[in-house]
Amino acid sequence: MKKSFRTLDDVDVKGKRVLLRVDLNVPMEDGHVSDATRLERIAPTIGEISGKGGKVILLAHFGRPKGRDPSQSLKPVAAALALVIGKPVAFAEDCVGDVAARAVGAMQDGDILCLENTRFHKEEEKNDPAFVAELAKLGDIWVNDAFSAAHRAHASTEGLGHKLPAYAGRTMQTELDALGKALDAPTHPVIAIVGGAKVSSKIDLLENLVTKVDALVIGGGMANTFLHAQGVGVGKSLAEKDLAATALRIIAKAETANCAIILPVDAIVATHFAANAPSRAYGLDAIPADGMILDVGPQSTARIHAAIDDAATLVWNGPLGAFEMSPFDRGTMVAARHAAERTKANKLISVAGGGDTVAALNQAGVSGDFSYVSTAGGAFLEWMEGKPLPGVEVLKAKGA
Ligand code: AMP
Repeated sequence: MKKSFRTLDDVDVKGKRVLLRVDLNVPMEDGHVSDATRLERIAPTIGEISGKGGKVILLAHFGRPKGRDPSQSLKPVAAALALVIGKPVAFAEDCVGDVAARAVGAMQDGDILCLENTRFHKEEEKNDPAFVAELAKLGDIWVNDAFSAAHRAHASTEGLGHKLPAYAGRTMQTELDALGKALDAPTHPVIAIVGGAKVSSKIDLLENLVTKVDALVIGGGMANTFLHAQGVGVGKSLAEKDLAATALRIIAKAETANCAIILPVDAIVATHFAANAPSRAYGLDAIPADGMILDVGPQSTARIHAAIDDAATLVWNGPLGAFEMSPFDRGTMVAARHAAERTKANKLISVAGGGDTVAALNQAGVSGDFSYVSTAGGAFLEWMEGKPLPGVEVLKAKGA
């Protein structure tokens, strides 16, 4: 299939200064990287460009500094990256100006240099043209390997793509390929599972999905809003009763688009919101007025199981219940393990993303068994909402 964006297959990087936008926003504890997953993900792109004789100049933001702030420096992250890739990573104390220019000027082919936090300059987030021009002076081409920052039109995530020949890095390419198979050109039937706390944060996402998927499972707290809108008494459960009209509109839109909406048919109801709170399953006509729905019930779990069996492609965001608290993780764990089994049996393409969803799949021990798990929070959600991502769009526009 012809790609709609350019990749490292389309450019000879030998001898070139490659401005490589990566995600170095790793969790830190006491000045040390506590989870190197993001560094491991970008290692192949860095290794490939360096191995082919390109000069790898890493650009990234870290945290949300207001101006220069030593506690938000990328220096310790660069040191951790060197350990992950097993190669030296030089560091420059600024991402523009003389300091950066001298560091880049000293590079040999194959060298790797990390520039300081782009957000030390407020012009980064403003996508300021003069700042973009300063960055562009340091490179011959721009490679974007940071899908997780692609929903932002910042200087290093988007602006550079208008100034320099632009390419997707291998991590970005893998993510775009996986997401493309899930929603853009999927194998049907496609099922989406959407859960989580609230409808209000996912209205755009639900409206987009009903036009693209064949079946939409709604679980978690947000299902209560839909059930309430349909006249079900949900007791003391989390529900956004003021969004009843929105819920009904989404159901109507799904009907028009021939998308089956699969709502819970029973629920695990507890007396209060706490781990191991006394609980039992109820049918929807019998939810106690003082009860709280904290998970989908056994019949709902069986329906979701069957819906996964009927699907060729699954897209998942949001837990089906309050999965952080036992036993209200059950619906989410059962669905996650079943989707993983179907994927391993080559019956399902499964793509999941979002912070809580990744945590839930890790808890189920199945992250490695899904076809693709995206760790990009905001960018993944905006992709599910069907919004164009500036950092991806710019890759389509410009090449060598
Ligand atoms: P989100 O960030 O919107 O995906 O929401 C995830 C959160 O929704 C998790 O912390 C879950 O504990 C919570 N959640 C899921 N189902 C329920 C429910 N029935 N009642 C209250 N919270 C829930």
